[in-house]
Amino acid sequence: MNMHTRKRTKTPEVKRQCHRCHGSGLAPCRICAGRGKVMSGKDLNGMPKFINCTGCMGRKTGRCPKCNGERFVI
Ligand SMILES: [Zn+2]
Ligand SMILES: [Zn+2]
Repeated sequence: MNMHTRKRTKTPEVKRQCHRCHGSGLAPCRICAGRGKVMSGKDLNGMPKFINCTGCMGRKTGRCPKCNGERFVI
């Protein structure tokens, strides 16, 4: 008597590298548009004053909105 043990071909979760951030998980900060600084009024000489972006803390990058920083998308 033959026992048929069929292997179930379960489709593995295919994770692909996020094409938006190219696998870095990072995207330019949306608040400062990747500049790292945002304008915050003017100084005493009437020149625009820049402060470190509060969204990225001056790092210029934020979490990729496509993969949520996971670097891969399913
Ligand atoms: Zn991404
Ligand atoms: Zn920023």
